[in-house]
Amino acid sequence: MTPLPLIRDGVVRGACPHDCPDTCAMLVHVQDGRAVRVQGDPEHPVTQGFLCTKVNRYVERTYHADRLTVPLRRVGPKGEGRFEPATWDEALGDIARRLNEIRSGPHGPQAILPYSYAGTMGLVQGSSMDRRFFHRIGGSLLARTICSVAGSEAWKATYGDRMGPTPEEAEHAKLVLLWGTNTLTSNPHLWPALRRARERGAKLIAIDPIRTRTAAQCDQWLPIRPGADAALALAMMHVAFRDGLADIDYLAAHTIGWEALRDRVLGEWSPARAADVVGLEEARIEALAAEYATTRPSFIRLNYGLQRHAGGGMAVRTLSLLPAVTGAWRDLGGGATLSTNGAFKMNNAALERPDWVIPGTRTINMVQLGDALTLPDAGVGGPPVQALVVYNSNPGAVAPDLRKVREGLRREGLFTVVLEHFRTDTADYADWVLPATTQLEHWDVHTTYGHVYVTLNRPSIEPVGQSLPNSEIFRRLAERMGLDDPELRDDDVTLIRQALDTTHPWMEGITFERLMEDGWVRMNLPRDWRPYADPKPNTPSGKIQILAPELERLGLDPLPTYIPPAESADADPAHAARYPLMLLSPPEHPFMNSTFVNIPPLERAARAQAKLLLHPNEAAVRGIAAGDRVRTFNGRGDFWARAVVTEDVRPGVAVSYGVRWASRSDGGTTVNDTTSQALTDMGGGAVFYDNAVEVERVAAALPTADVGGEVEAVGAGV
Ligand code: SF4
Repeated sequence: MTPLPLIRDGVVRGACPHDCPDTCAMLVHVQDGRAVRVQGDPEHPVTQGFLCTKVNRYVERTYHADRLTVPLRRVGPKGEGRFEPATWDEALGDIARRLNEIRSGPHGPQAILPYSYAGTMGLVQGSSMDRRFFHRIGGSLLARTICSVAGSEAWKATYGDRMGPTPEEAEHAKLVLLWGTNTLTSNPHLWPALRRARERGAKLIAIDPIRTRTAAQCDQWLPIRPGADAALALAMMHVAFRDGLADIDYLAAHTIGWEALRDRVLGEWSPARAADVVGLEEARIEALAAEYATTRPSFIRLNYGLQRHAGGGMAVRTLSLLPAVTGAWRDLGGGATLSTNGAFKMNNAALERPDWVIPGTRTINMVQLGDALTLPDAGVGGPPVQALVVYNSNPGAVAPDLRKVREGLRREGLFTVVLEHFRTDTADYADWVLPATTQLEHWDVHTTYGHVYVTLNRPSIEPVGQSLPNSEIFRRLAERMGLDDPELRDDDVTLIRQALDTTHPWMEGITFERLMEDGWVRMNLPRDWRPYADPKPNTPSGKIQILAPELERLGLDPLPTYIPPAESADADPAHAARYPLMLLSPPEHPFMNSTFVNIPPLERAARAQAKLLLHPNEAAVRGIAAGDRVRTFNGRGDFWARAVVTEDVRPGVAVSYGVRWASRSDGGTTVNDTTSQALTDMGGGAVFYDNAVEVERVAAALPTADVGGEVEAVGAGV
């Protein structure tokens, strides 16, 4: 499992495992076999010597008193969280027996459902032996759609591989649009590059319904309506074409469909028409459009938040085409970045063995876990889900429509296994909880979606207690189930070598040995990278697809357009009249999705009590004052929070930062009790921010003890 000896005293190179575009190169300081400190690698061009406020606490999290150290068997009712310790032999023996019974039972192996996401982004612990295991036993496939798929599919339809300027190029920009991204919280290693750009005269504009801590640091904040991003982009294109600012040479050489786009935006998307949809005055749209089209280089950083609504894929696709219209892709530091992950050409097929999937195996969308666990055909046809194996995820906190998810997790006919570090909201419902290692205790290799460096993670300490890497748990389980394929016995270093074993020129010379030596290696890409300056996109047409005929086959407009959020007044006035606030639930600064929620200094920093941010006008009409207890609700569920009355959110919007654990929340519910299982236009993604709610002041005490601290005035430092 650890074929190379651990360094007992010294500094060990690693990688941050979390779902963040920065994928920091981490240095782990070890004394006498114990990790004492983590730090960002000062030599890494993007990490630049610092980790974020969350991961700085990684050692504390690793040795946390609540850390799971032995397998646990449930002894109380599901959800109550009562367990007894057991041995690995007992746990693996029972799990293997139960899974084999289900495999050979009347419903067959598809009654087994894996459930995982980005609890670690590492290829070994996140998507290797686990995939081989489930493919070999014939379990249902999981569509891993909860975060990024709408944007990814949109980019694929438009440009092929996802690429864009990294922080190393972005510092050359003269105008930066931070569009639906809270950089200081969710992509903090871009900020030093933007600061350098600013020192050279660049202007930073935040486009966001919320004045986030990032927006507060920008030169300008444009508080658009949630989900109106595509409408704003179309109006900006209108100005570019109308005023002769479009780069016709670039469009003609590298795109298809630009004339149809031009005709559409000139005919339909004047700033005057867009103003109501976008929620900004016409003059502000005109000014933004002119500034964008006349400033070189211009860089747009968009992020995944803006694709979390019914039209999210189309929104990303439309925004992504702004630099094609203006020719900004030609410039160093110009263009737009959603993700750089397309630059990595790892051998994922060797790791995951998709060729083992039995033809005709059904796929269950993770966003619709509530339906999958409660409907007799899992909502997609076929057998009911009889076994759920959860790893690298906490669906009891992060999945939408949580009331339904809990109902499913409580089902007596469901056998649930959870691989975890802590007793999470999901683990409380498990039949078995298996202790998994953290990043300090196992091998891994990482790509990223915010720069272009491959990073190796070496284990720096022995596993805490009896915890095991995910890969090892699946290896042992395979053995106990009688699966004898040699590929189910590959150790972690072998898996890393397999991931790197490709003939793609961008991977040339990137070997395990080199990563052992250097820790991280840049993909073989030119310095001053301009991915679409002279593009050869791997789209069906070989061009940047402003017109994407494939989308028409999916029932979508093949040209960029605006699709309003499904629960907005534009799309469903009757629903919006009943639930007039659009609730956004972006990441809480000290948390990483549902990770770090139980780390005391970070929980204190976030305040134990959830907050609900409302514009003063919205608060006034509801008789809500700052600090009031409020109930936020819709037809799916409700949660409680303390009101923060602030002009940092625009009218018509409510904000509650997430993701919190229900078990640590007043009333035992969270924002995800109100979110929906509906899907995005592209890829079947989650629509967390397409969530219409109403809010009311709660006069009576909360259903459980108020564990919150005082609510402080919220301004720039949200
Ligand atoms: S979460 Fe992001 S910023 Fe924080 S250490 Fe990890 S990669 Fe770096």
